[in-house]
Amino acid sequence: MAKYKLEYVWLDGYEPAANIRGKTLIKEFNAFPTLDQLPLWGFDGSSTRQAEGGDSDCVLKPVAVYPDSTRRNGAVVMCEVMLPNGDPHPSNTRATIMDDDGAWFGFEQEYFLFQDGRPLGWPDQGYPSPQGEYYTGVGYKAVGDLARQIVEEHLDICLDAGINHEGINAEVAKGQWEFQIFGKGSKNAADQMWVARYFLLRCAEKYGVDVEWHCKPFTGDWNGSGMHANFSTEKMRSVGGKEYFLAMMAKFEENMNEHIAVYGTDNHMRLTGLHETQSIDTFSWGVADRGASIRVPHSFINNGHKGYLEDRRPNSQGDPYAIAGRILKTVQEVG
Ligand code: ADP
Ligand code: MN
Ligand code: MN
Ligand code: MN
Repeated sequence: MAKYKLEYVWLDGYEPAANIRGKTLIKEFNAFPTLDQLPLWGFDGSSTRQAEGGDSDCVLKPVAVYPDSTRRNGAVVMCEVMLPNGDPHPSNTRATIMDDDGAWFGFEQEYFLFQDGRPLGWPDQGYPSPQGEYYTGVGYKAVGDLARQIVEEHLDICLDAGINHEGINAEVAKGQWEFQIFGKGSKNAADQMWVARYFLLRCAEKYGVDVEWHCKPFTGDWNGSGMHANFSTEKMRSVGGKEYFLAMMAKFEENMNEHIAVYGTDNHMRLTGLHETQSIDTFSWGVADRGASIRVPHSFINNGHKGYLEDRRPNSQGDPYAIAGRILKTVQEVG
């Protein structure tokens, strides 16, 4: 038997963007615990904007568990927040995603690393050289030193946890980075994304560095941060067809505002029509078009309108649960 440190992690009730919270439960197991071995737990919802003080108990329901190689016998337990009567809490966006094993998502998370209120590697005052050589850049001048250390450490922690990273890269603005996560099942990639975000915050703590998730920390000629959502369903991959695709794009256009509503805070600052975005009040799709709301990969057209699509509108602070749920709802409306 060993005593495991189970970090129960959940999303709080802050608006417009939830924060990740976590607390540790110590429990003995013979081996790394499976999901069905993990008990329900609780927390004080009055301290997380999820309950009133007089009736403060919220319930944590484990939904996924990942090894945490940064702690001896550690695990991160992703949880849904439930009401004491067993219903999902209103802040529980995961509970609104329809179950669909055939739905696949790939999220591309962009973010800035910040120290003392400035992106890593920026001068104390003013700005670094204009954008151009930072994206996928190499060398101290392009990426500094501390940033890559954190990014690499985070990658290893995620791989140790079994999180399905597909890649990482330095992004267009100095101090801005990206990682991509892919998962099969309607909730899988979003679970992994929240846990990867948790690990990034934790990893940066000890360097005195914070993660800036906001989609547009700087106005002017500096890229914002997105979280492109690549998606496909069983029908998109195996049936597809031009007619189905056009019907789907019509539904996306019809539901434009409902999508934007869950695609992240302050997205009007980022979706300007510049910096590889479409403007927030226009819906468009285009083949290989990075200025469109939805980019259609060449492979999709070449395969008879089959495969995955990229919704470029979600931003870095968006909730992948709410985003996945909304996309699947619209796809389902097509029939
Ligand atoms: P880019 O930066 O050019 O948009 P990336 O390589 O960063 O491309 O991201 C492409 C994303 O598409 C990856 O996250 C990948 O997991 C995802 N993806 C690939 N195939 C599928 C699929 N069939 N269904 C859903 N997502 C997919
Ligand atoms: Mn990318
Ligand atoms: Mn990118
Ligand atoms: Mn992309």
